[in-house]
Amino acid sequence: MKMRSADWKIFTLWVTGLALAAVCLVWVLRAESKRQLEQGGEQSGLRWAHFASRTVPDLEAAFAGQGITPAAREQLSRLRRTDDVFRFKLFDRLGNLILLSDDLDQPTLPSAYSAEDGIGQGAAAATRFAIRDQILAGKPYFELKRETGSGRPAVYSEVYVPVQRDGKVLGAVQVFVDQTELARNAESAFVRVAGVVAALLLVLLAVASYQFWMRLRPSLRQAETRVRYMAHHDVLSGALNRASFNEMLKQAAWRRAEGGPAFALLCIDLDHFKEVNDSLGHAAGDEVLRVATQRLKACVREGDQVARLGGDEFAVVLLGVASVAAVTPLAQRIVEALSQSYDVGDQRLRCGGSVGVAIHGVDATDPDDLLGKADLALYRAKAQGRGTFSFYDVAMDQQMQTRRELTRDLRDAIAANQMSLHYQPLYGRDARTLIGYEALLRWQHPKRGNIAPVEFIALAEETGVIDAIGVWVLRRACTEAAGWPAPLTVAVNLSAMQFASDNLVQLVTQALSDAGLAPERLELEITESLLMNNTEQVMGVLRSLSAMGISIAMDDFGTGYSSLAYLWRFPFDKVKIDRAFTHNLGHDAKVGVIVHSIISLAHSLDIRVNAEGVETPSQMAALQDRGCDELQGFLLGRPGPADGLTHAGWVVAPDGATRRAEPRESLIDSLPMDWPASRPAPLV
Ligand code: C2E
Ligand code: CA
Ligand code: CA
Repeated sequence: MKMRSADWKIFTLWVTGLALAAVCLVWVLRAESKRQLEQGGEQSGLRWAHFASRTVPDLEAAFAGQGITPAAREQLSRLRRTDDVFRFKLFDRLGNLILLSDDLDQPTLPSAYSAEDGIGQGAAAATRFAIRDQILAGKPYFELKRETGSGRPAVYSEVYVPVQRDGKVLGAVQVFVDQTELARNAESAFVRVAGVVAALLLVLLAVASYQFWMRLRPSLRQAETRVRYMAHHDVLSGALNRASFNEMLKQAAWRRAEGGPAFALLCIDLDHFKEVNDSLGHAAGDEVLRVATQRLKACVREGDQVARLGGDEFAVVLLGVASVAAVTPLAQRIVEALSQSYDVGDQRLRCGGSVGVAIHGVDATDPDDLLGKADLALYRAKAQGRGTFSFYDVAMDQQMQTRRELTRDLRDAIAANQMSLHYQPLYGRDARTLIGYEALLRWQHPKRGNIAPVEFIALAEETGVIDAIGVWVLRRACTEAAGWPAPLTVAVNLSAMQFASDNLVQLVTQALSDAGLAPERLELEITESLLMNNTEQVMGVLRSLSAMGISIAMDDFGTGYSSLAYLWRFPFDKVKIDRAFTHNLGHDAKVGVIVHSIISLAHSLDIRVNAEGVETPSQMAALQDRGCDELQGFLLGRPGPADGLTHAGWVVAPDGATRRAEPRESLIDSLPMDWPASRPAPLV
């Protein structure tokens, strides 16, 4: 930059210098031609005056006021047109006009002229006197005149010449010298010289400009290249940006139509990138993006293109591949490369990638279509558990269509009264004492019938409908539970998404007070995934809810990250062992050990333990043996509608206090070991 501004200065100086030189030259030339004109005029005037003073007879007498003698008149008439002189005047020694050459045409000369016609006629009085004094003092006076339309030559000189004898001024002659010819010659000489000079200056200017341009060109070219690069590339990663990627994709499709190479499009998303960004900051996120880009570039071949479409979204165009078989190893390589750990600062992170593939000419030919299809494939790769790749297939369109319809219907489901809650009982360790119910959402779709929550909760979370649904569930569960005998509790599942809004505590408070339900009778179930993000904010909300007297349960324990730190960081009231453990109890000895460890750990932290998915008496027995506090599962009771709840296992003493339920042992003991899961819940 510094260099360039110095160059500009030099160039400006150059041009200014040249312009100044040109102006000076013009001025000098003009002055010179004027000087020549003046000199020429003066000399002609003097020459004529000297000649006249020598050849006109009786001139002395004329100057002395004795009139013009015929001899003098004759000679003066002769001198009227000599050389360039076209007119003259004679003045006496006082400066009064005594003869005007034009009057020589008259038969008789005027006997006298007006005093106004004296030396310096036409000039202002002061100038006039000055001219007269100068001439009468014996010094010639000269004036160059340019006139148009006065009948006189365009350029002429007026030369006053004093006529002297023995150092004494007798009078003066004013000679009018025609200088048109001389001026014309000077003019054309000036034009010629000026033309040559201008041409010379132009050449110099051109040379200077050329040299300046040559000096400037490399930096201009660099800047231009940089601007072009920035317009086409993502600044952070150096990959192509979205706009130029779209353009490139169009060109690839167009070239293919013209017989160019086949190609496949890969859409890539980094898995868990948001968590990296949220927990370690944007600088770490940026570093991961840079490394991921380098890895993608290293995976592809010369000519292939890598683009960052925004956020953690990438796209790759692989040239020369047109089949699943050809793309598979490349897609595999990309997944593997992205799954390698990332060293950011002093941390080592894992942040894999999912890949969706669409092949041009097979899945779509239109670039936008192709991109949409690769995106669908990516969606499936993510749904399949991430860290994998998936090829587009036609069924995905149908699935997407279904998904779109379901999303639309989901938005209207509450208003259309299609949602309801089913309640599954929770029993104490004795499998007899009813503690309360877990509220489970049911959607009765007008066309599709019953839709299970696993099918629509994730969709509701992705589309944001979960907020409205969550509020509805909370309020309905509280209202229905308020109709149950105390102290039966109701457990409500909360989605992690519901914690994103900051009015959760307020919503819960409102739901409880509107329903008239004591906070001690409400239990909220959350999953570990909630605690992974934004832990402080979540912890704050949980603490507020807990302080109100609401129980907080950790749901599906053992399926996620099962970080014991979560149990330590928040004083959960309950941990719910996931039904996968319950299912494998008895099949796998190790599961028994894990379940036992979870129970003893929870107990040592003063946390109650619930086991979900109890389907067989042997599972139940195993849990009871290990000290599990609560049992839940089809064996003890299936989820059912609110109006069908009998509250079996719950008995109120005549004094209003709860008392233990009647033993059901005989019934449970008599159940076969392979109790079918589909059988209705046992009634006491
Ligand atoms: P979850 O919270 O783990 O709920 C227990 C699920 O296990 C329920 O499935 C229940 O019907 C099923 N279940 C109970 N006992 C047994 C058993 O013995 N064997 C087997 N195989 N399954 C049993 P459901 O109702 O389909 O709900 C599935 C999941 O949907 C729930 O898992 C919960 O994560 C979510 N969900 C349900 N209702 C809501 C809700 O209102 N809000 C939110 N955010 N999520 C909900
Ligand atoms: Ca639950
Ligand atoms: Ca669960």
